Amino acid sequence: ATLGLDQDAPLEALMQAGASHLWLHASPIQTLVTQADRRILVEGRGCRVTDAQGHTYLDALSGQWLVNVGHGRAEIAEAMARQAKALAYGNASRAATLPAIQLAAVLAHLTPGDLSTVFFSSGGSEAVESALKIARQYHALRGEPERYKVIARRGSYHGATYGAMSASGSRSGVDSYFGPLLSGTLSVSAPYCYRCDYRKTYPECDVYCVDAIEDLLRYESPNTVAAVIAEPVSAACGIVVPPAEYLPRLREICDRHGVLLILDEVITGFGRTGKMFASEHWDVVPDIMTLAKGLSSGYAPIAATVCRQPIADIFGGANGKAIGHLLTFGGQPVACAAALANLDILQRENLVRNAEQQGAYLLSRLHDLASRHPSVGDVRGLGLLCALELVTDRRTQQPFPVDGPEIHYLLEKLAELGVLTRAEGNLYLAPPLCIERHEIDELTGIVDTALSHFEEAHSYL
Ligand code: PLP
Repeated sequence: ATLGLDQDAPLEALMQAGASHLWLHASPIQTLVTQADRRILVEGRGCRVTDAQGHTYLDALSGQWLVNVGHGRAEIAEAMARQAKALAYGNASRAATLPAIQLAAVLAHLTPGDLSTVFFSSGGSEAVESALKIARQYHALRGEPERYKVIARRGSYHGATYGAMSASGSRSGVDSYFGPLLSGTLSVSAPYCYRCDYRKTYPECDVYCVDAIEDLLRYESPNTVAAVIAEPVSAACGIVVPPAEYLPRLREICDRHGVLLILDEVITGFGRTGKMFASEHWDVVPDIMTLAKGLSSGYAPIAATVCRQPIADIFGGANGKAIGHLLTFGGQPVACAAALANLDILQRENLVRNAEQQGAYLLSRLHDLASRHPSVGDVRGLGLLCALELVTDRRTQQPFPVDGPEIHYLLEKLAELGVLTRAEGNLYLAPPLCIERHEIDELTGIVDTALSHFEEAHSYL
């Protein structure tokens, strides 16, 4: 190839070219050659991926929490090719396409309650960005333009674009370069019982952390708040599964004060937690639900912001008002075709039920493993969304250094034994929803061995 390298170029040359020209996200430039845990992936089948050197690994993070139906699904590739040949693009604001209409109708049907109207975009950050703008414009159109504030939970992650980043719960680390953030974004503590910010214990606490949201609302004056945004189960907080009372009470608080509830199901949607949507574990219907990742299992970049009927009513009807928001790639028909084929597999193969069953098994194996490993302070999970929280001392719950050499050692050991995943203070385990019981045995066996090496190498700290 005259313009670059062909696929058969030697690995060294590919790595060098990647290091020089490809900027991996959330990474320093050139990490492809400077960090041992970066690799070039070339193929995937089911729960496994293969790198350019021919090593095959169990993909314990489903790519980036998204390859729900597994790798290598030819049906999805074929559906995309059919649509690309028929029509590769319509017009996001002036024309609908068949797959966009079909997918919107499927999502209206799958999502709970009267969630009914779908605004498409390309990724989770855009889905959140859209939700925030819809919430503000909704209040403005109803005659309450002063409702602009958004409350999020500390430690949560809603995306990388400015609105989504501002509504995420981190004000330190790399985020500190980008201020000032969107004004009016506030934060409260997450329902993180292992490290409760209020030094309380469940159930005696009576879930004070959700009442604290109402306290903040009252303090800010409720009629200045547009929305509360939350992940039903927060992956970024460390797979924080809230107490049973939390989300139903949050729904009541939002209703009491006319505040919209945005549930961000970008990770938890499409079966990840053992139900189609995690909010269904607690029978809570948000006003706006954000979806991405598992919507296409990563086969195409697509996301959705799904709104309840009262919101659609404000923007719709004879006197309908245009939303001030247009994304060229919203509802891109090839991506919609990928999502439709993906959802078809998810349902045909009962993968949501499989996630529930295999998730329960994975969690029981992780509890067993935790009882034997002093580096594991806590085990959390719902469905196939699990984490082991690593500590330097179980008794004091001393948190683990998030990006130190010890974590890199653990990740390299896991890769050497055949597992790819991610670890910071937590070791995350979220494999594709098509995983089978023997693969969970293989996965947890490798985690067990890797933790033993890790504890021995650091004699346990
Ligand atoms: N919301 C949640 C809950 C996420 O976990 C993420 C990404 O991990 C996002 C939003 C942002 O999605 P994207 O990276 O597709 O923009």
